[in-house]
Amino acid sequence: MIAEVIVDVAHSEVDKIFDYLCDDSVQAGCRVTVPFGRTYVAGFVMRIKPTSDFPNLKRIAKVFDELPAINPECLSLTQKIADRYHVPKALVLRLFLPAEMRTGKVSEVYKTYAELIDENAQIPVRATAQRGVVDYLKSHGKTPCSLLRERFSSAVNALEKKGVIQIYRERVQRSPYGNLALDDSARTLTDEQQAAVQSIQTSEKTVQLLHGVTGSGKTEIYLNLIAKNLQEGKSAIFLVPEISLTPQMLSQLRSRFGSAAAILHSGLSVGERFDEWWRLRSGEAKIAIGARSAVFAPLENLGIIVIDEEHDGSYSSETSPRYNTFDIARLRAEYNGCKLVLGSATPSVETYLHAQEGEYNLIKLTKRINRRPMPEITVADMRREVKKGNNSFFSADLQEELERVLSDNNQAILFLNRRGYSRSVICTECGYVAKCESCDVALTYHHEEKCLKCHYCGARYRMLSACPECSGKRLNYTGTGTERVVEELNKIFPSARILRMDNDTVAGKEGHFKILHAFAEGKADILVGTQMIAKGHDFPSVTLVGILDADMSLHFSDYRSGERTFQLITQVAGRSGRGQEKGKVVLQTYDPENTVLRHAIAYDYEGFYQNEISLRRATAFPPFALIVRVMVSAEHDQDALEGLKKIYFPLEKLYLENTDKFLFFNKMHSPIKRIQNRHRYQVLMRLTDASLLPQIYAVCAEYKDKHVTVYVEENPANLS
Ligand code: ADP
Ligand code: ZN
Repeated sequence: MIAEVIVDVAHSEVDKIFDYLCDDSVQAGCRVTVPFGRTYVAGFVMRIKPTSDFPNLKRIAKVFDELPAINPECLSLTQKIADRYHVPKALVLRLFLPAEMRTGKVSEVYKTYAELIDENAQIPVRATAQRGVVDYLKSHGKTPCSLLRERFSSAVNALEKKGVIQIYRERVQRSPYGNLALDDSARTLTDEQQAAVQSIQTSEKTVQLLHGVTGSGKTEIYLNLIAKNLQEGKSAIFLVPEISLTPQMLSQLRSRFGSAAAILHSGLSVGERFDEWWRLRSGEAKIAIGARSAVFAPLENLGIIVIDEEHDGSYSSETSPRYNTFDIARLRAEYNGCKLVLGSATPSVETYLHAQEGEYNLIKLTKRINRRPMPEITVADMRREVKKGNNSFFSADLQEELERVLSDNNQAILFLNRRGYSRSVICTECGYVAKCESCDVALTYHHEEKCLKCHYCGARYRMLSACPECSGKRLNYTGTGTERVVEELNKIFPSARILRMDNDTVAGKEGHFKILHAFAEGKADILVGTQMIAKGHDFPSVTLVGILDADMSLHFSDYRSGERTFQLITQVAGRSGRGQEKGKVVLQTYDPENTVLRHAIAYDYEGFYQNEISLRRATAFPPFALIVRVMVSAEHDQDALEGLKKIYFPLEKLYLENTDKFLFFNKMHSPIKRIQNRHRYQVLMRLTDASLLPQIYAVCAEYKDKHVTVYVEENPANLS
């Protein structure tokens, strides 16, 4: 037979099919080693065929898999993804395997066991060791050989020879979170939940949007749907934002589905990840749970795919291929003829637009479980605090509420939006924010160059020494970190136990898991953190949430900043009052009249959405336009600049031939000129629709220079 092989070299020059001779046993999807030029390289069999047009074919040197590593669905998906993002197929195929499998650095672990097969065997009285083995096996059952050999040495082998015991090898599963406490409180669905399940099951549409307020029991709905599919012999993918792999979620899944659930995520050890992957591929496990990369889980016969917190930014890949998890999930759902369920309390406006237009089935959950009230949000006007002489991070309101939490032995979460903080310029006296004159997005402060920049058009502005609105001199350019907040808390509440969670404190395997676990166990009174504490956690003793700087993401220099702010406030506020006691939220802001904040405080998603979507329509931003950035970077500035010139030429041609489809087109320095020693330039475009996208990708795929990296980003999450 002939095998069509893709060699695992990620240069597009070799992104071709090569024919090799192979045995009949080789199947499509197998990993192989093939002679290639003067060496041997790894490859994947894409297809088996009877004949080839080429003479003198070489033979496959080695076949790694009995069961092909890549299943038929994933093979067909490979082609689609490669076409969509113009990347070599080898690069796509890598997404389907744990990285360690490609390099051969990981493999199965086996252990040998002994078991008694002849209960009535007559053992000579003098052979005490042999009798010891038999007695041990009688009372303990199957036992690792190593243990028996340690105690009874060679008696083990003697008994095997006599046929009294049997020695065999068994695969060892390195199971992540093996000692997790189980939470098996089975729940009966509420009427609202039941209706949602019904609606999803009977809908004709592929994509289902479950729009439910925080605490409305969405998780229970997913689990119910997954269980139903499992009963029908089907499999499931359950995607969560990386951060949401919380202890509670995991213990719920483990207790409900036992070993049928496999967890894929970056915090696992190499061996654990390999074993979990293999359990899915072999069909032993039927549910893949994980962050975005789990969308590539090697499952067959999918019955459902769930994307929880669908609006979350972590669903876009920021390394090549820069795929969008939703797009891949949809392709898989269509291939399998199954449902794709998106869940969120704050769907992205793009998703909601599709639901409004009837493309997706929209299901709403408007009440919290047990009719628990949504926590009340009060606004603290920080301008007034400043005027009153309060220069701390905490308004008088928040301090008072914190005192109450501490004396009642409850817990509080303080949320700090550090990411946006140090970037925009805000007047602490009137709330004025510096914006770009032509784009109406907030300017970003660049410390090194001491200037303000617009990330959407590249315009530069001089730094302000006074506020143009109120002439106030207190402009805030640089912010604070969680560390300083904790410091100040310690001063005001010396006896409070405080935990901090941000990028600095969660390093290492299961880092954030540990912090959250400690907080859940009541080992601290106050948890201070950034974005990563916002979502998905269920801490029943939390009765207060403080949002220290609600505006800071509002003026983040991004067209989505309003959307992000609404989502963040809703998510963070949703952490309060999930137990028996009523929850409270204190939201600190310099801009209490802001529309986005007003809607967030009133839990009015619909109002927020109407406002936001008409704004996007009027200003021609996504989803009514497409922002595309072609990024060019190189170690030497000259190389990057040359690269930019070369790539600009064909792009400009495209632009000149289609000016009606462009709202903006220009080449420029990237806002941050150098990152990790690479000089960065970009061609920035805003297009009326996606029709030119394939041509833009094609232009960039053609560009080849080993010193220069070129890639395309669609609606990038970050334009710095
Ligand atoms: P969401 O994901 O919508 O924010 P959760 O799934 O976290 O909401 O549910 C909120 C709380 O309600 C959880 O503590 C969950 O265990 C509980 N819960 C969910 N469904 C039920 C039910 N049918 N009966 C009792 N409690 C439920
Ligand atoms: Zn601008």
